[in-house]
Amino acid sequence: MTELPVITHWIDGAPARGASTRTAPVFNPALGAVAKNVLLAGTGDVATAVASAQAAYPLWRDTSQAKRQGIMFNFRELLNARKGELADILTAEHGKVTSDALGEIARGLEVVEFALGMPHLSKGEYSENVSTGVDVYTLRQPLGVVGIISPFNFPAMVPLWFFPIAIAAGNTVVLKPSEKDPSASNWMAALMTEAGLPDGVLNVVHGDKEAVDALLVHPDVQAISFVGSTPIAKYIYETAAHHGKRVQALGGAKNHMLVLPDADLDLAADAAVNAGFGSAGERCMAISVVVAVEPVADELVAKITERLKGLKVGDGMRGCDMGPLITKVHRDKVASYIDLAQTDGAEVVVDGRGIEVDGDASGFWLGPTLFDKVSTESDVYLDEIFGPVLSVVRVASYTEGLDLINRSRYGNGTAIFTNDGGAARRFQNEVQVGMVGINVPIPVPVAYHAFGGWKDSLFGDAKAYGPAGIAFYTREKAITSRWLDPSHGGINLGFPQNA
Ligand code: NAD
Repeated sequence: MTELPVITHWIDGAPARGASTRTAPVFNPALGAVAKNVLLAGTGDVATAVASAQAAYPLWRDTSQAKRQGIMFNFRELLNARKGELADILTAEHGKVTSDALGEIARGLEVVEFALGMPHLSKGEYSENVSTGVDVYTLRQPLGVVGIISPFNFPAMVPLWFFPIAIAAGNTVVLKPSEKDPSASNWMAALMTEAGLPDGVLNVVHGDKEAVDALLVHPDVQAISFVGSTPIAKYIYETAAHHGKRVQALGGAKNHMLVLPDADLDLAADAAVNAGFGSAGERCMAISVVVAVEPVADELVAKITERLKGLKVGDGMRGCDMGPLITKVHRDKVASYIDLAQTDGAEVVVDGRGIEVDGDASGFWLGPTLFDKVSTESDVYLDEIFGPVLSVVRVASYTEGLDLINRSRYGNGTAIFTNDGGAARRFQNEVQVGMVGINVPIPVPVAYHAFGGWKDSLFGDAKAYGPAGIAFYTREKAITSRWLDPSHGGINLGFPQNA
């Protein structure tokens, strides 16, 4: 038997094995087989990575904006030229199809391009002569070492939401990606080194709870950016805040798409299928509930069903529409909702179990699954299933649909499909959700607007990237200065006042 490759950490600009010998399997989900093992860092390994980042910080902070920008620009060029390699890594470890992997990289590249504007974006403000001979100005300075903890479903894009902005702003980074598909982070860190990034500015440690906890309590880590499921996001937010860190923690979702009776139902059906089943539903912005305002439900369900028949499921390298799920455990959990839906009285319109696939029989497959007349009391409706499962809930009016969406514990994304501008405008005003699409099913904001949900989809008040990213990775310093002039004020113990 040949030994499987071992994915190491990336510390101080080079692969590093660390001291911990614990490992976790990394699957090729389309083959259903372990392809590699990844090292799981212990507390000491995280401390080594943080020490490397801490040592690199003073020089990086003081490196000119022009030089930092040059390195980020090189990275942008290299990433763009070699995105095919990265897409192959994503497909091999996550399972998403090549076109989807390239889409994820494109959205990450957008953030790199945004970060290239750092010299302009991080400029301070200046007020001259606020008091006689006194000027006040603000600077935005980096924080120091920042930790980034990312989920399995976007192994390239989510790290790219954060590290380009953090690094362009002068911080140094320890990235802890998902242990389920860890290779993309090492690949990107090596590319940053190739782009000219000094050693220690971007480190990658792989691991599980032990590595995460080590980052959360480390005194030299100034801030934590987290993306993942809601229970872990809440834990991260509370623990990191308790240890005095700035923290942004993005959690899970259950995104509703409200379809009004006047909507273009072909457009709505296309959108529901694209947003429900792209990436096998493993997207935090996936649509998982279609809220059909009667009398459109029968026709809409028929149109969605028709489209599902044409979807090709299989190995992401073979030009299929939808790949496998991330692990067997996750696939089995997602599939268990089909029985639950039946028990809870829903109609199983399309059952994804046992579908024919263009791929190895051992892959973690589940075909597109559609439930109609789902009860809002059922866990099928309430849980974030995170798989290729779309539920239809029927309501009698716009107001009933809106109330349903606003009662959800999650508030990540939502969409309305309508041709009525007034209804859409009312929806954007009334809905309690952080990102809203109007005839757009996956309203992921572009890199120069911030990304983030409301309620249990985001803990804290800091969204990812855009202006919020600049604010998160810098802190403002206000300077009040007076250069000597002949008119000295003399002694005055009163509180400073302007004159
Ligand atoms: P997850 O919460 O299981 O893991 C996320 C990260 O936390 C990983 O790096 C993991 O190693 C770490 N982690 C897991 N358990 C931990 C624990 N007990 N203590 C400390 N750290 C722990 O999430 P996932 O399954 O990798 O990703 C899917 C989830 O992420 C979904 O809920 C999805 O909605 C969410 N997500 C949200 C967004 C968003 O922007 N809101 C984006 C992508 C994914």
